[in-house]
Amino acid sequence: MRAIRRFTVRTVLPPELAALGELVHNLRWSWHPETMDLFEQVDPETWQRVGHDPVALLGAVDSRRLAELARDRRFLRRLADAADDLREYMTAPRWYQNLEGAPQAIAYFSPEFGIAAALPQYSGGLGILAGDHLKAASDLGVPIIGVGLLYRHGYFTQSLSPEGWQLEHYPSLDPGGMPLTLLKEPDGEPARIRVNLPENRVLHAQIWVAQVGRVPLLLLDSDVAENDALSRDVTDRLYGGGTDHRLLQELLLGIGGVRAVRAYCRITGYPEPEVFHTNEGHAGFLGLERIRELTEARLTFEEALEAVRAGTVFTTHTPVPAGIDRFPMDMIARQFGGDNAWPTVDVERILELGAEPEGEGGDKALFNMAVMGMRLAQRVNGVSQLHGKVSREMFQGLWPGFDVDEVPIGSITNGVHAPTWVGREALELAGERLPLLAEEAKGWEGIQKISDEEIWEIRGKLRRRLVEAARERLRRSWRERGASDPELKWIDEALDPDVLTIGFARRVPSYKRLTLMLRDPERLRAILLHPERPVQIVIAGKAHPADEGGKRLIQQIVRFADQEDVRHRIVFLPDYDMSLAQLLVQGCDVWMNNPLRPLEACGTSGMKAALNGGLNLSIRDGWWDEWYDGNNGWAIPTADGVEDPDRRDELEASALYDLIEREVAPRFYDRAAGGPPRRWIEMVKHTLTSLGPKVLAGRMLRDYVVDLYTPAARAARELAADNYRQARAFAAWKLRVRRAWPGVRVEHVETSGVGDTPELGATLEVRATVALGELEPGDVAVQAAYGRVGPHDELVRPSYATLEPVESADDGRVIFHGTVPLDRTGAFGYTVRVVPSHPLMASPAELGLITVPEEPAGMTNGTFR
Ligand SMILES: *Cc1c(COP(=O)(O)O)cnc(C)c1O
Repeated sequence: MRAIRRFTVRTVLPPELAALGELVHNLRWSWHPETMDLFEQVDPETWQRVGHDPVALLGAVDSRRLAELARDRRFLRRLADAADDLREYMTAPRWYQNLEGAPQAIAYFSPEFGIAAALPQYSGGLGILAGDHLKAASDLGVPIIGVGLLYRHGYFTQSLSPEGWQLEHYPSLDPGGMPLTLLKEPDGEPARIRVNLPENRVLHAQIWVAQVGRVPLLLLDSDVAENDALSRDVTDRLYGGGTDHRLLQELLLGIGGVRAVRAYCRITGYPEPEVFHTNEGHAGFLGLERIRELTEARLTFEEALEAVRAGTVFTTHTPVPAGIDRFPMDMIARQFGGDNAWPTVDVERILELGAEPEGEGGDKALFNMAVMGMRLAQRVNGVSQLHGKVSREMFQGLWPGFDVDEVPIGSITNGVHAPTWVGREALELAGERLPLLAEEAKGWEGIQKISDEEIWEIRGKLRRRLVEAARERLRRSWRERGASDPELKWIDEALDPDVLTIGFARRVPSYKRLTLMLRDPERLRAILLHPERPVQIVIAGKAHPADEGGKRLIQQIVRFADQEDVRHRIVFLPDYDMSLAQLLVQGCDVWMNNPLRPLEACGTSGMKAALNGGLNLSIRDGWWDEWYDGNNGWAIPTADGVEDPDRRDELEASALYDLIEREVAPRFYDRAAGGPPRRWIEMVKHTLTSLGPKVLAGRMLRDYVVDLYTPAARAARELAADNYRQARAFAAWKLRVRRAWPGVRVEHVETSGVGDTPELGATLEVRATVALGELEPGDVAVQAAYGRVGPHDELVRPSYATLEPVESADDGRVIFHGTVPLDRTGAFGYTVRVVPSHPLMASPAELGLITVPEEPAGMTNGTFR
C-alpha cells in the first residue's frame, strides 16, 4: 500500500540543545566544517549513515542520546560557541556594508539552486552557480533574496541497469525533512500566493524559506490542498514534463516569485529589492509582474517598462539554442489575454516582448524567453568573455544596424565558492598560512612559500579519499546492477591512490562530448595501462531523462569501463551530485573538459579543481579561454574551423591523447628518488596563484555588485523618484524619438584639415549636415566613427568622436562639427552616425536606432576617394 501523504515528524530538542536547531536550519553549516564537526559529535555513526545531512541526523538520533548531550558540559560549551559564531556571522558588517549607493536589497531568481546535497534542487551548472552566488553574497554581506521553486522530487537520482543504461529515480522529498521553514503570516497561517490561469483556474503556492547564511532563499511549492491534482504537480520535478508544465513552472517562478518576495518583505520587514536579477530566461515573467504592479499604480505600459528595465539584470547562460525556452505564441496569448488578461496590461505588448527578431532563425510563432529577458533588462551579461562575445553575435538581431561589438551584452565570468568546494585539508593549510580563500582576493603569492612536500601530501590525501569513496560507490553500483559480492573482489583494488587521476564529470548534453576519449579505444587503453606511467580516469554525469542520445553515450562509457582489463583504471560513478563533485574536484590531479568550442558558456567545475590544486586539461572554451596562460594547465587544441564534426572530433581526440602521453603523464611521474614531482607541483602552485583570486565566487559577486547591481539601483531610483517622474519622461522621450527617427538623415559630410597626403598625427575636421526632423540636437549624438578599415571598407573596432552642433540651417537641418585624430598609419576610414542620446540610456544601442550616411563617407589608404 502507498501512503497518500507523507511528512516528517521533527524531533523536539531538549531546551539545552535549542541552538542545535538554529545551526541545522541555517545552511551555513554546508560550508562551515566546524559546525559539521559538532553535528558529527551528536552521533558519529548516525552522522555517517545519514550522509552528513543534519536534519536527517536530528530525525534519526535517539532521544536518550539527546538527553545525554543536554547534560554534557563540554558539548554544551562547543554548541554555545558555534551558535555565537553563527550569530556573529549573521550580523557583523562585511564588505558590502561599506559601499555607497548599492541597492538596499536584490532579488535573485533562478529555476534551480545547488546549495547542498541535502537540498537536491539542482540539475547542473546553472543551479550550482546560483547556490555559489547566494553563499558568496552571504559571505560578503550582500542583501540578496533568492527565489526559486521547491521540487518535490528534485531532479532525479541516477543508477545503472546491468547493461549500463541510465535509470532514473524520483525520491519523494519532504520539506519537513529538509532545512526549510514555512513562511507564515503573523496570525500563524502559512503565507499563500496565487497566480491566475485561464478558464478561471488559480494556481496556489506556499513558500518555504531556506536560510543560506545571511541570505534567505524563498522556494515556492504548489503542493497545497487548495490546488487540484494537476496544479499540485506544477512543482513536481525540475525540468520534467512538457511545454505546458514548463510554462506553469515559469509563471509560478516569475510572477509567483515576485509575489513571494512581496509577502516575505511584508512579513519579516526585510527591505524591498531595488534590483531584480534573472538567472537565465526561465524566471523572465518576473518583469511582467513588476510591470503589472506599476501599471496598477497608474503608470502606462511604456513608463512601467522603463522603470522595470532600469532595475533588472538579465544573465544569459547558454549559446546552445536548445537551452533557451521558447513557448508557442498562442500559449502566452492564452495566459495573458482573453478572460485571464490583466486589466492594465495589453497582451499584445507582452507578445511583442518575446517576439524573435525577423530574419535568420526567427520564428513568428514562438515566444522567446531570452529575447524577452533582454527587452526587460537594461543590463545584460554573459558568463565569460568568450560567451559575452558569442552572445553579442547570437542576439545581434535585436539591435539591427549596430556593430556586433556594440551589442549591449557584457560579461561577468563565473566563479566558485571556495569554502564549499575546497578540501578541508587544503582550506586549513590555507587558513593557517595565508589570509586567502576568504572573500579577499589577495595574498595568493604566499602559496609559493609552502613546501612541495606539504602540497604533495595534501594532494595525496585528497586522491586517496577519492579512491576509497569511489570503490565504495562502485561496489554499490555493481550490487544494484546485480553482481554478487564474490564477483566484486576486484573492486578492492580498483583505482590506485598513487596513479595519475583524471576526472571528467558533467551533465551529458552532446556538446560536452562525454565519449571523445573513446574515439580511439586502443589508444585510450594503452594510456590507462601504460607500464611506467599509468593513468586512471573517474567519470560521472547525468543525462536529461528525455535525452536518449545522452544515455547512449553513458552506456558506451560504462561498457568500456566494464571490461576486465581496464576496469581498475577507468570507472563511471553513478549519481553525479554535489557530494560526488566535491570528492572529484578535490581528489583528481587533472580535470578534463572537451566541449565543442564555443558552446560551453563558462564551465565551473574546472575552477573548483584548480582551487584544490588540480590542473586543467581543456579545450579553450568558456573561462579557460580567458585565463589559460600557457603554464597553469594544458589547452587541448581546438579544430573549430573544421566543418565536418567527425573530422573535428578525430583531430581533437588525437590532440588530447598526445597531450596526455607526452606532457601530462611524463610530468606527473617525473620524480627524483622518491621525492615529489617538482615540475608538477610548480604548475600546481602557479595554477593557484594565477587562478586562485580570479575563480572565486567572491570576485564574481563583487563584479555583479559594482558593475551591474549598483548602476541598476541608481537608475531605478532615479526613474522612481518623485512618483516616477523620470520614468514617465524617459518613456515619453523614447516614444517621441522612435516616432521622429525616420526623419533623421545624415545629408552631407565634409572634411578638411589634411591635405592630399594625410600624415600620422594630423587632425581631420569633420562637418556633418544632419536633418533632425522633429528632434532637437540634444536628443541625438552625432559621432564620427573612425579607425582601421578592413578589405570591404568596414571599420574594424572603430573609435568614436562626438560632433557638436555648431549652426542650424533651415528646415531643421543642423551642422555638427568635430575633429578626428589620424592616430594610425595605413588604411584608415571614417563615417558619421546618429544615435539617440539621453542620460538615462545605458548604451547607445538601447533603442536599437541608428542612422548612417546613405553613401558612406570616408577615405582609405590615406587618400581621399
Ligand atoms: C560544478 C558542478 C557542475 C557544473 O560543472 P561544469 O563545469 O559547468 O559542467 C555540474 N554539476 C555539479 C554537481 C557540480 O558540482
